[in-house]
Amino acid sequence: MLGHTTIEYCASLIQTGGALGQINPSALLFSPAKMLMFTGWFYLCFYCAQKLQYSTIVSSKFRSLATLVALFLGPICILALMIFVPLKQSLVSGARFSDTLRNYLEDLVAGARRLGAASEEEEPALVLLDSSGRSMDDIYGHDDRKRVDSRALTLTETIIAEALDQRASDILIDPRSEQKYAIRFRVDGLLRIFQEADSDISRAVVNSIKAVSGMDISEKRRPQDGAFVAKKGDVTSSFRVASAGVLNGEKLSIRVLNHDASTHSLDDVGWTKKQLTLVREMVAKPSGMILICGPTGSGKTSTMYAMLNEMDRFTRNVITVEDPIEAILPEASQIEINAKADITFAKALRSMLRQDPDVICVGEIRDEETAQIALRAAQTGHLVLATLHCDSNAAAIIRLLDLGVSPALIASGLHLVISQRLLRCLCEACKRPAEFTPSQIREFKRNQVAYQEILAPVGCRRCNDTGYYGRTAVGDLTVVTAQLKTSIAQDKGIADQLRDSGAKKGSSNLNKQALRKVVSGLTTLEEITRVIG
Ligand SMILES: [Zn+2]
Repeated sequence: MLGHTTIEYCASLIQTGGALGQINPSALLFSPAKMLMFTGWFYLCFYCAQKLQYSTIVSSKFRSLATLVALFLGPICILALMIFVPLKQSLVSGARFSDTLRNYLEDLVAGARRLGAASEEEEPALVLLDSSGRSMDDIYGHDDRKRVDSRALTLTETIIAEALDQRASDILIDPRSEQKYAIRFRVDGLLRIFQEADSDISRAVVNSIKAVSGMDISEKRRPQDGAFVAKKGDVTSSFRVASAGVLNGEKLSIRVLNHDASTHSLDDVGWTKKQLTLVREMVAKPSGMILICGPTGSGKTSTMYAMLNEMDRFTRNVITVEDPIEAILPEASQIEINAKADITFAKALRSMLRQDPDVICVGEIRDEETAQIALRAAQTGHLVLATLHCDSNAAAIIRLLDLGVSPALIASGLHLVISQRLLRCLCEACKRPAEFTPSQIREFKRNQVAYQEILAPVGCRRCNDTGYYGRTAVGDLTVVTAQLKTSIAQDKGIADQLRDSGAKKGSSNLNKQALRKVVSGLTTLEEITRVIG
Protein backbone atom coordinates (compact mmCIF):
# COMPACT_ATOMS: atom_id res chain seq x y z
CA MET A 1 0.00 0.00 0.00
CA LEU A 2 2.87 2.24 0.88
CA GLY A 3 4.31 1.81 -2.64
CA HIS A 4 1.03 2.78 -4.16
CA THR A 5 0.69 5.97 -2.18
CA THR A 6 4.29 6.93 -3.01
CA ILE A 7 3.57 6.63 -6.74
CA GLU A 8 0.39 8.67 -6.39
CA TYR A 9 2.29 11.28 -4.40
CA CYS A 10 5.00 11.53 -7.06
CA ALA A 11 2.41 11.80 -9.81
CA SER A 12 0.74 14.63 -7.95
CA LEU A 13 4.12 16.33 -7.52
CA ILE A 14 4.72 16.22 -11.25
CA GLN A 15 1.25 17.55 -11.94
CA THR A 16 1.52 20.35 -9.46
CA GLY A 17 5.10 21.13 -10.41
CA GLY A 18 7.01 20.08 -7.30
CA ALA A 19 6.59 19.82 -3.59
CA LEU A 20 6.63 23.55 -3.09
CA GLY A 21 4.11 23.96 -5.87
CA GLN A 22 5.45 27.36 -6.89
CA ILE A 23 7.34 26.64 -10.16
CA ASN A 24 6.37 24.26 -12.93
CA PRO A 25 9.65 23.55 -14.89
CA SER A 26 7.77 22.23 -17.92
CA ALA A 27 6.01 25.55 -18.20
CA LEU A 28 9.34 27.33 -18.73
CA LEU A 29 10.34 28.14 -22.28
CA PHE A 30 13.96 26.98 -21.65
CA SER A 31 13.61 24.34 -18.98
CA PRO A 32 16.78 22.20 -18.44
CA ALA A 33 15.06 19.11 -19.85
CA LYS A 34 14.00 20.95 -23.00
CA MET A 35 17.47 22.39 -23.43
CA LEU A 36 18.98 18.93 -23.09
CA MET A 37 16.59 17.44 -25.62
CA PHE A 38 17.12 20.30 -28.00
CA THR A 39 20.93 19.97 -27.79
CA GLY A 40 20.66 16.21 -28.23
CA TRP A 41 18.46 16.56 -31.31
CA PHE A 42 20.75 19.23 -32.72
CA TYR A 43 23.80 17.04 -32.18
CA LEU A 44 22.18 13.99 -33.77
CA CYS A 45 21.14 16.05 -36.81
CA PHE A 46 24.70 17.20 -37.34
CA TYR A 47 26.03 13.71 -36.72
CA CYS A 48 23.76 12.31 -39.43
CA ALA A 49 24.62 15.05 -41.89
CA GLN A 50 28.32 14.40 -41.32
CA LYS A 51 27.93 10.61 -41.67
CA LEU A 52 26.08 11.00 -44.94
CA GLN A 53 28.93 13.05 -46.39
CA TYR A 54 31.14 9.95 -46.44
CA SER A 55 28.52 7.27 -46.86
CA THR A 56 28.07 5.24 -50.01
CA ILE A 57 24.40 4.66 -49.26
CA VAL A 58 23.36 7.77 -51.17
CA SER A 59 24.86 8.39 -54.60
CA SER A 60 26.97 11.54 -54.89
CA LYS A 61 24.29 13.17 -57.06
CA PHE A 62 21.76 13.28 -54.22
CA ARG A 63 24.22 13.69 -51.38
CA SER A 64 23.62 17.42 -50.84
CA LEU A 65 19.86 16.91 -50.72
CA ALA A 66 20.23 13.95 -48.36
CA THR A 67 22.55 15.97 -46.12
CA LEU A 68 20.00 18.77 -45.96
CA VAL A 69 17.23 16.36 -45.02
CA ALA A 70 19.52 14.74 -42.43
CA LEU A 71 20.21 18.15 -40.90
CA PHE A 72 16.54 18.52 -39.99
CA LEU A 73 15.49 14.93 -39.43
CA GLY A 74 18.73 13.51 -38.00
CA PRO A 75 17.53 11.05 -35.35
CA ILE A 76 14.85 9.65 -37.68
CA CYS A 77 17.62 9.08 -40.25
CA ILE A 78 19.73 7.26 -37.64
CA LEU A 79 16.84 4.90 -37.01
CA ALA A 80 16.41 4.35 -40.75
CA LEU A 81 20.16 3.66 -41.12
CA MET A 82 20.07 1.21 -38.24
CA ILE A 83 17.42 -0.76 -40.07
CA PHE A 84 18.71 -0.23 -43.61
CA VAL A 85 22.30 -1.49 -43.15
CA PRO A 86 21.45 -4.89 -41.59
CA LEU A 87 18.49 -5.23 -44.01
CA LYS A 88 20.86 -4.77 -46.94
CA GLN A 89 23.31 -7.26 -45.39
CA SER A 90 20.60 -9.84 -44.85
CA LEU A 91 19.35 -9.45 -48.43
CA VAL A 92 22.86 -9.87 -49.83
CA SER A 93 23.92 -12.79 -47.64
CA GLY A 94 20.51 -14.42 -47.22
CA ALA A 95 20.86 -14.38 -43.42
CA ARG A 96 17.89 -13.75 -41.12
CA PHE A 97 17.21 -10.04 -40.57
CA SER A 98 17.08 -10.47 -36.81
CA ASP A 99 20.57 -12.03 -36.85
CA THR A 100 22.13 -9.29 -38.95
CA LEU A 101 20.41 -6.61 -36.84
CA ARG A 102 21.77 -8.22 -33.67
CA ASN A 103 25.29 -8.40 -35.17
CA TYR A 104 25.04 -4.80 -36.28
CA LEU A 105 23.97 -3.59 -32.84
CA GLU A 106 26.72 -5.66 -31.17
CA ASP A 107 29.22 -4.10 -33.58
CA LEU A 108 28.00 -0.63 -32.67
CA VAL A 109 28.30 -1.33 -28.96
CA ALA A 110 31.77 -2.91 -29.41
CA GLY A 111 32.87 0.07 -31.52
CA ALA A 112 31.67 2.53 -28.89
CA ARG A 113 33.47 0.54 -26.18
CA ARG A 114 36.68 0.49 -28.19
CA LEU A 115 36.42 4.25 -28.66
CA GLY A 116 35.93 4.66 -24.93
CA ALA A 117 38.85 2.36 -24.12
CA ALA A 118 41.10 4.11 -26.64
CA SER A 119 40.44 7.49 -25.13
CA GLU A 120 40.99 6.17 -21.61
CA GLU A 121 44.50 4.79 -22.12
CA GLU A 122 46.54 6.18 -24.92
CA GLU A 123 48.19 3.55 -27.11
CA PRO A 124 51.97 3.68 -27.46
CA ALA A 125 53.06 5.29 -30.73
CA LEU A 126 54.45 3.19 -33.58
CA VAL A 127 58.06 3.97 -34.46
CA LEU A 128 59.77 2.80 -37.65
CA LEU A 129 63.49 2.08 -37.37
CA ASP A 130 66.11 1.22 -39.98
CA SER A 131 68.68 -1.55 -39.62
CA SER A 132 70.98 0.67 -37.56
CA GLY A 133 68.19 1.74 -35.22
CA ARG A 134 67.57 5.22 -36.67
CA SER A 135 63.98 6.46 -36.61
CA MET A 136 62.22 8.44 -39.37
CA ASP A 137 62.95 11.59 -37.36
CA ASP A 138 66.66 10.74 -37.32
CA ILE A 139 66.69 9.98 -41.03
CA TYR A 140 64.81 13.08 -42.10
CA GLY A 141 65.88 15.31 -39.19
CA HIS A 142 63.32 16.59 -36.65
CA ASP A 143 62.68 19.86 -38.46
CA ASP A 144 62.80 18.32 -41.90
CA ARG A 145 59.99 15.99 -41.00
CA LYS A 146 57.60 18.90 -41.33
CA ARG A 147 59.24 20.02 -44.51
CA VAL A 148 59.29 16.60 -46.15
CA ASP A 149 55.57 15.83 -46.32
CA SER A 150 54.57 15.00 -42.81
CA ARG A 151 51.26 13.82 -44.25
CA ALA A 152 53.09 11.05 -46.13
CA LEU A 153 55.07 9.99 -43.05
CA THR A 154 51.87 9.81 -41.04
CA LEU A 155 50.24 7.72 -43.80
CA THR A 156 53.28 5.39 -43.81
CA GLU A 157 52.93 4.84 -40.08
CA THR A 158 49.18 4.33 -40.42
CA ILE A 159 49.69 1.70 -43.15
CA ILE A 160 52.18 -0.26 -41.04
CA ALA A 161 50.07 0.01 -37.88
CA GLU A 162 46.89 -1.07 -39.72
CA ALA A 163 48.69 -3.97 -41.41
CA LEU A 164 49.82 -5.26 -38.01
CA ASP A 165 46.36 -4.69 -36.60
CA GLN A 166 44.70 -6.64 -39.42
CA ARG A 167 47.26 -9.51 -39.09
CA ALA A 168 48.54 -8.92 -42.63
CA SER A 169 51.37 -11.10 -43.95
CA ASP A 170 52.21 -8.78 -46.86
CA ILE A 171 51.69 -5.15 -47.80
CA LEU A 172 51.61 -4.25 -51.50
CA ILE A 173 51.86 -0.68 -52.71
CA ASP A 174 51.56 -0.38 -56.48
CA PRO A 175 50.55 2.19 -59.08
CA ARG A 176 47.17 1.54 -60.69
CA SER A 177 47.29 4.51 -63.08
CA GLU A 178 49.19 7.77 -63.40
CA GLN A 179 46.97 9.31 -60.72
CA LYS A 180 46.30 6.48 -58.29
CA TYR A 181 48.18 3.94 -56.20
CA ALA A 182 46.58 0.96 -54.50
CA ILE A 183 47.65 -0.07 -51.01
CA ARG A 184 46.68 -3.67 -50.33
CA PHE A 185 47.12 -6.13 -47.44
CA ARG A 186 47.31 -9.90 -47.67
CA VAL A 187 45.30 -11.28 -44.75
CA ASP A 188 44.72 -15.02 -44.28
CA GLY A 189 46.17 -15.57 -47.75
CA LEU A 190 43.89 -13.20 -49.64
CA LEU A 191 44.53 -9.65 -50.80
CA ARG A 192 42.23 -6.92 -49.59
CA ILE A 193 42.38 -3.27 -50.52
CA PHE A 194 43.31 -1.02 -47.62
CA GLN A 195 43.25 2.30 -49.41
CA GLU A 196 43.61 3.98 -52.79
CA ALA A 197 45.74 7.09 -52.62
CA ASP A 198 46.86 9.86 -54.96
CA SER A 199 50.14 9.32 -56.75
CA ASP A 200 51.90 12.27 -55.12
CA ILE A 201 51.39 11.16 -51.55
CA SER A 202 51.90 7.49 -52.50
CA ARG A 203 55.27 8.23 -54.08
CA ALA A 204 56.27 10.06 -50.88
CA VAL A 205 55.15 6.99 -48.88
CA VAL A 206 57.22 4.70 -51.14
CA ASN A 207 60.23 6.98 -50.68
CA SER A 208 59.89 7.08 -46.90
CA ILE A 209 59.70 3.28 -46.74
CA LYS A 210 62.71 3.00 -49.05
CA ALA A 211 64.61 5.46 -46.85
CA VAL A 212 63.91 3.57 -43.64
CA SER A 213 64.74 0.25 -45.39
CA GLY A 214 68.19 1.48 -46.36
CA MET A 215 67.45 1.61 -50.11
CA ASP A 216 68.58 4.17 -52.65
CA ILE A 217 65.67 6.62 -53.09
CA SER A 218 66.97 7.99 -56.40
CA GLU A 219 67.05 4.53 -57.99
CA LYS A 220 63.49 3.94 -59.17
CA ARG A 221 63.80 1.27 -61.86
CA ARG A 222 66.31 -1.32 -60.68
CA PRO A 223 64.87 -3.83 -58.16
CA GLN A 224 66.17 -3.30 -54.63
CA ASP A 225 65.87 -5.14 -51.30
CA GLY A 226 65.79 -3.74 -47.82
CA ALA A 227 64.45 -4.22 -44.32
CA PHE A 228 63.12 -2.19 -41.43
CA VAL A 229 61.65 -2.68 -37.98
CA ALA A 230 58.49 -1.30 -36.37
CA LYS A 231 58.32 -0.84 -32.60
CA LYS A 232 55.14 -0.29 -30.66
CA GLY A 233 55.60 -0.38 -26.91
CA ASP A 234 57.36 -3.69 -26.19
CA VAL A 235 56.32 -5.32 -29.46
CA THR A 236 58.80 -5.35 -32.34
CA SER A 237 57.91 -6.49 -35.87
CA SER A 238 60.28 -6.87 -38.81
CA PHE A 239 59.59 -6.10 -42.44
CA ARG A 240 61.34 -7.22 -45.63
CA VAL A 241 60.94 -4.79 -48.51
CA ALA A 242 61.41 -5.36 -52.25
CA SER A 243 61.00 -2.59 -54.81
CA ALA A 244 60.66 -2.72 -58.58
CA GLY A 245 60.07 -0.14 -61.29
CA VAL A 246 56.77 -0.81 -63.07
CA LEU A 247 54.51 1.08 -65.46
CA ASN A 248 53.42 4.43 -63.96
CA GLY A 249 55.84 4.30 -61.08
CA GLU A 250 57.36 2.02 -58.51
CA LYS A 251 55.96 -1.02 -56.74
CA LEU A 252 56.76 -2.07 -53.17
CA SER A 253 56.18 -5.52 -51.71
CA ILE A 254 56.59 -5.61 -47.96
CA ARG A 255 56.69 -8.92 -46.12
CA VAL A 256 55.63 -8.83 -42.47
CA LEU A 257 57.79 -11.22 -40.49
CA ASN A 258 56.27 -12.69 -37.36
CA HIS A 259 58.92 -12.28 -34.74
CA ASP A 260 57.73 -14.63 -32.06
CA ALA A 261 58.11 -18.27 -33.11
CA SER A 262 57.15 -19.52 -29.65
CA THR A 263 53.48 -18.77 -30.44
CA HIS A 264 53.38 -21.62 -32.98
CA SER A 265 52.12 -24.84 -31.45
CA LEU A 266 51.39 -28.23 -33.03
CA ASP A 267 48.01 -28.27 -31.27
CA ASP A 268 46.96 -25.12 -33.12
CA VAL A 269 47.97 -26.27 -36.61
CA GLY A 270 44.64 -27.97 -37.15
CA TRP A 271 45.57 -31.64 -37.67
CA THR A 272 43.57 -34.60 -36.43
CA LYS A 273 44.54 -36.36 -33.18
CA LYS A 274 45.93 -39.33 -35.11
CA GLN A 275 48.11 -37.08 -37.25
CA LEU A 276 49.32 -35.16 -34.19
CA THR A 277 50.41 -38.36 -32.45
CA LEU A 278 52.26 -39.50 -35.56
CA VAL A 279 54.06 -36.17 -36.03
CA ARG A 280 55.02 -36.04 -32.33
CA GLU A 281 56.48 -39.55 -32.61
CA MET A 282 58.51 -38.58 -35.68
CA VAL A 283 59.75 -35.32 -34.15
CA ALA A 284 61.00 -37.22 -31.10
CA LYS A 285 63.18 -39.51 -33.26
CA PRO A 286 66.90 -38.78 -33.44
CA SER A 287 67.27 -39.02 -37.22
CA GLY A 288 65.45 -39.00 -40.55
CA MET A 289 63.90 -36.31 -42.70
CA ILE A 290 60.43 -34.82 -42.25
CA LEU A 291 59.48 -33.07 -45.47
CA ILE A 292 56.68 -30.49 -45.44
CA CYS A 293 55.15 -29.72 -48.85
CA GLY A 294 52.61 -27.29 -50.19
CA PRO A 295 52.24 -24.31 -52.50
CA THR A 296 53.28 -20.77 -51.47
CA GLY A 297 51.35 -19.53 -48.44
CA SER A 298 50.29 -22.96 -47.23
CA GLY A 299 51.85 -22.47 -43.81
CA LYS A 300 54.87 -24.76 -44.27
CA THR A 301 57.20 -22.55 -42.23
CA SER A 302 54.68 -22.10 -39.41
CA THR A 303 54.32 -25.88 -39.18
CA MET A 304 58.09 -26.21 -39.07
CA TYR A 305 58.28 -23.73 -36.18
CA ALA A 306 55.48 -25.61 -34.41
CA MET A 307 57.53 -28.83 -34.69
CA LEU A 308 60.65 -27.08 -33.39
CA ASN A 309 58.63 -25.80 -30.42
CA GLU A 310 57.90 -29.43 -29.50
CA MET A 311 61.60 -30.02 -28.91
CA ASP A 312 63.67 -29.30 -25.87
CA ARG A 313 66.14 -26.95 -27.48
CA PHE A 314 68.39 -26.96 -24.41
CA THR A 315 69.23 -30.63 -24.79
CA ARG A 316 69.06 -30.77 -28.60
CA ASN A 317 71.28 -28.52 -30.69
CA VAL A 318 68.90 -26.92 -33.21
CA ILE A 319 70.26 -25.06 -36.24
CA THR A 320 68.08 -23.52 -38.95
CA VAL A 321 68.89 -22.14 -42.41
CA GLU A 322 66.15 -19.83 -43.65
CA ASP A 323 65.37 -17.30 -46.35
CA PRO A 324 64.37 -15.05 -44.66
CA ILE A 325 64.34 -15.81 -40.92
CA GLU A 326 60.60 -15.49 -40.37
CA ALA A 327 60.56 -15.71 -36.61
CA ILE A 328 63.02 -15.71 -33.75
CA LEU A 329 63.35 -19.09 -32.11
CA PRO A 330 64.87 -18.92 -28.63
CA GLU A 331 67.78 -21.33 -27.92
CA ALA A 332 68.28 -22.12 -31.61
CA SER A 333 70.98 -20.94 -34.03
CA GLN A 334 69.41 -19.37 -37.07
CA ILE A 335 71.29 -18.64 -40.28
CA GLU A 336 69.84 -16.41 -43.00
CA ILE A 337 70.55 -16.98 -46.68
CA ASN A 338 72.25 -14.04 -48.33
CA ALA A 339 72.84 -14.36 -52.07
CA LYS A 340 74.94 -11.15 -52.16
CA ALA A 341 77.32 -12.50 -49.52
CA ASP A 342 77.29 -15.88 -51.29
CA ILE A 343 75.60 -17.68 -48.40
CA THR A 344 73.44 -20.27 -50.16
CA PHE A 345 71.37 -23.06 -48.64
CA ALA A 346 73.98 -25.65 -49.61
CA LYS A 347 76.93 -23.63 -48.25
CA ALA A 348 75.16 -22.77 -45.00
CA LEU A 349 74.15 -26.41 -44.57
CA ARG A 350 77.67 -27.64 -45.10
CA SER A 351 79.08 -25.19 -42.56
CA MET A 352 76.46 -25.95 -39.94
CA LEU A 353 77.08 -29.68 -40.17
CA ARG A 354 80.44 -28.88 -38.58
CA GLN A 355 78.60 -27.33 -35.59
CA ASP A 356 77.52 -30.72 -34.25
CA PRO A 357 73.76 -30.23 -34.70
CA ASP A 358 71.06 -32.64 -33.53
CA VAL A 359 68.24 -31.02 -35.47
CA ILE A 360 68.67 -29.25 -38.80
CA CYS A 361 66.02 -27.09 -40.41
CA VAL A 362 66.19 -26.33 -44.10
CA GLY A 363 63.93 -23.40 -44.99
CA GLU A 364 63.43 -24.68 -48.51
CA ILE A 365 64.97 -27.35 -50.71
CA ARG A 366 65.48 -25.71 -54.10
CA ASP A 367 68.36 -27.57 -55.74
CA GLU A 368 70.03 -30.94 -55.97
CA GLU A 369 72.98 -30.02 -53.76
CA THR A 370 70.79 -28.90 -50.85
CA ALA A 371 68.60 -32.01 -51.22
CA GLN A 372 71.67 -34.29 -51.24
CA ILE A 373 73.29 -32.71 -48.16
CA ALA A 374 70.02 -32.64 -46.22
CA LEU A 375 69.15 -36.27 -46.98
CA ARG A 376 72.66 -37.45 -46.21
CA ALA A 377 72.50 -35.63 -42.86
CA ALA A 378 69.15 -37.32 -42.17
CA GLN A 379 70.76 -40.66 -42.95
CA THR A 380 73.69 -40.05 -40.62
CA GLY A 381 72.01 -39.40 -37.31
CA HIS A 382 70.41 -35.96 -37.64
CA LEU A 383 66.75 -35.06 -37.54
CA VAL A 384 66.13 -32.90 -40.61
CA LEU A 385 63.04 -30.74 -41.11
CA ALA A 386 62.69 -29.31 -44.59
CA THR A 387 60.09 -27.73 -46.83
CA LEU A 388 59.57 -28.32 -50.52
CA HIS A 389 57.41 -26.31 -52.89
CA CYS A 390 55.07 -28.89 -54.48
CA ASP A 391 51.44 -30.04 -54.51
CA SER A 392 51.36 -33.50 -52.98
CA ASN A 393 53.42 -36.13 -51.18
CA ALA A 394 53.73 -38.08 -54.41
CA ALA A 395 54.91 -34.94 -56.21
CA ALA A 396 57.50 -34.40 -53.47
CA ILE A 397 59.16 -37.76 -54.06
CA ILE A 398 58.99 -37.22 -57.84
CA ARG A 399 60.52 -33.78 -57.37
CA LEU A 400 63.42 -35.19 -55.35
CA LEU A 401 64.01 -37.83 -58.06
CA ASP A 402 63.81 -35.10 -60.74
CA LEU A 403 66.38 -33.04 -58.84
CA GLY A 404 68.74 -35.93 -59.36
CA VAL A 405 68.83 -37.38 -55.85
CA SER A 406 69.48 -41.11 -55.95
CA PRO A 407 66.45 -43.31 -55.10
CA ALA A 408 68.53 -45.17 -52.50
CA LEU A 409 69.30 -41.94 -50.65
CA ILE A 410 65.62 -40.88 -50.66
CA ALA A 411 64.57 -44.31 -49.41
CA SER A 412 67.01 -44.31 -46.51
CA GLY A 413 66.77 -40.65 -45.48
CA LEU A 414 63.11 -39.72 -45.89
CA HIS A 415 60.82 -40.74 -43.00
CA LEU A 416 57.68 -38.65 -43.27
CA VAL A 417 56.15 -36.47 -45.98
CA ILE A 418 53.41 -33.98 -45.13
CA SER A 419 51.32 -32.04 -47.65
CA GLN A 420 49.54 -29.10 -46.21
CA ARG A 421 46.87 -26.55 -47.17
CA LEU A 422 45.44 -23.66 -45.17
CA LEU A 423 41.70 -23.01 -45.09
CA ARG A 424 40.29 -19.79 -43.74
CA CYS A 425 38.26 -20.24 -40.53
CA LEU A 426 34.76 -18.83 -40.24
CA CYS A 427 34.66 -15.78 -37.98
CA GLU A 428 33.37 -16.93 -34.59
CA ALA A 429 31.60 -13.63 -34.04
CA CYS A 430 29.35 -13.65 -37.09
CA LYS A 431 29.02 -17.14 -38.62
CA ARG A 432 25.43 -18.34 -39.03
CA PRO A 433 23.65 -21.58 -39.98
CA ALA A 434 23.03 -22.20 -43.68
CA GLU A 435 21.01 -24.65 -45.75
CA PHE A 436 22.52 -27.61 -47.57
CA THR A 437 22.07 -27.75 -51.32
CA PRO A 438 21.45 -31.17 -52.92
CA SER A 439 24.89 -31.15 -54.55
CA GLN A 440 26.54 -30.41 -51.20
CA ILE A 441 24.70 -33.34 -49.62
CA ARG A 442 25.95 -35.57 -52.46
CA GLU A 443 29.52 -34.36 -51.83
CA PHE A 444 29.32 -35.29 -48.13
CA LYS A 445 27.80 -38.69 -48.93
CA ARG A 446 30.43 -39.43 -51.57
CA ASN A 447 33.19 -38.75 -49.03
CA GLN A 448 31.34 -40.67 -46.29
CA VAL A 449 31.36 -37.70 -43.94
CA ALA A 450 28.39 -37.45 -41.55
CA TYR A 451 26.65 -34.10 -41.96
CA GLN A 452 24.26 -32.27 -39.69
CA GLU A 453 24.78 -28.57 -39.76
CA ILE A 454 26.65 -26.23 -42.02
CA LEU A 455 27.62 -22.63 -41.29
CA ALA A 456 28.13 -19.69 -43.62
CA PRO A 457 30.15 -16.47 -43.41
CA VAL A 458 28.34 -13.17 -42.68
CA GLY A 459 30.89 -10.44 -41.97
CA CYS A 460 31.35 -8.10 -39.03
CA ARG A 461 33.81 -5.55 -37.74
CA ARG A 462 36.09 -8.22 -36.22
CA CYS A 463 36.67 -9.97 -39.54
CA ASN A 464 36.62 -6.81 -41.66
CA ASP A 465 33.36 -7.89 -43.29
CA THR A 466 34.94 -10.97 -44.84
CA GLY A 467 33.22 -13.52 -42.62
CA TYR A 468 36.55 -15.27 -42.04
CA TYR A 469 39.18 -14.91 -39.31
CA GLY A 470 42.41 -16.92 -39.01
CA ARG A 471 43.28 -20.16 -40.75
CA THR A 472 43.43 -23.88 -40.04
CA ALA A 473 45.54 -26.52 -41.76
CA VAL A 474 44.56 -29.80 -43.37
CA GLY A 475 47.35 -32.27 -43.93
CA ASP A 476 48.03 -35.47 -45.85
CA LEU A 477 50.71 -37.52 -44.08
CA THR A 478 52.69 -40.29 -45.76
CA VAL A 479 55.01 -42.38 -43.62
CA VAL A 480 57.79 -43.79 -45.76
CA THR A 481 57.23 -47.43 -44.81
CA ALA A 482 59.59 -50.32 -45.46
CA GLN A 483 57.47 -51.29 -48.47
CA LEU A 484 57.57 -47.77 -49.93
CA LYS A 485 61.30 -47.60 -49.18
CA THR A 486 61.85 -50.78 -51.19
CA SER A 487 59.84 -49.56 -54.15
CA ILE A 488 61.60 -46.18 -54.15
CA ALA A 489 65.04 -47.79 -53.79
CA GLN A 490 64.36 -50.22 -56.62
CA ASP A 491 62.86 -47.37 -58.65
CA LYS A 492 60.45 -49.68 -60.47
CA GLY A 493 58.70 -46.87 -62.27
CA ILE A 494 57.85 -45.43 -58.85
CA ALA A 495 57.52 -41.93 -60.31
CA ASP A 496 54.83 -43.01 -62.80
CA GLN A 497 53.07 -45.06 -60.15
CA LEU A 498 52.99 -42.11 -57.77
CA ARG A 499 51.98 -39.71 -60.51
CA ASP A 500 48.93 -41.85 -61.32
CA SER A 501 47.57 -42.81 -57.95
CA GLY A 502 49.49 -40.84 -55.30
CA ALA A 503 48.41 -37.33 -56.19
CA LYS A 504 44.74 -38.34 -56.45
CA LYS A 505 44.82 -40.12 -53.10
CA GLY A 506 46.51 -37.14 -51.48
CA SER A 507 43.96 -34.62 -52.62
CA SER A 508 41.09 -36.89 -51.59
CA ASN A 509 42.63 -37.23 -48.10
CA LEU A 510 42.87 -33.45 -47.83
CA ASN A 511 39.32 -33.09 -49.13
CA LYS A 512 37.88 -35.52 -46.60
CA GLN A 513 39.60 -33.80 -43.72
CA ALA A 514 38.45 -30.42 -44.95
CA LEU A 515 34.83 -31.65 -45.19
CA ARG A 516 35.03 -32.75 -41.54
CA LYS A 517 36.08 -29.21 -40.70
CA VAL A 518 33.05 -27.87 -42.57
CA VAL A 519 30.76 -30.15 -40.54
CA SER A 520 32.33 -29.00 -37.29
CA GLY A 521 31.57 -25.41 -38.27
CA LEU A 522 35.18 -24.34 -38.76
CA THR A 523 35.19 -23.50 -42.44
CA THR A 524 33.08 -23.60 -45.61
CA LEU A 525 32.76 -25.63 -48.80
CA GLU A 526 33.69 -22.51 -50.79
CA GLU A 527 37.04 -22.46 -49.00
CA ILE A 528 37.66 -26.11 -49.94
CA THR A 529 36.94 -25.33 -53.59
CA ARG A 530 39.21 -22.29 -53.47
CA VAL A 531 42.12 -24.01 -51.76
CA ILE A 532 41.97 -27.70 -52.65
CA GLY A 533 39.80 -27.52 -55.78
ZN1 LIG B 1 32.98 -11.64 -38.36
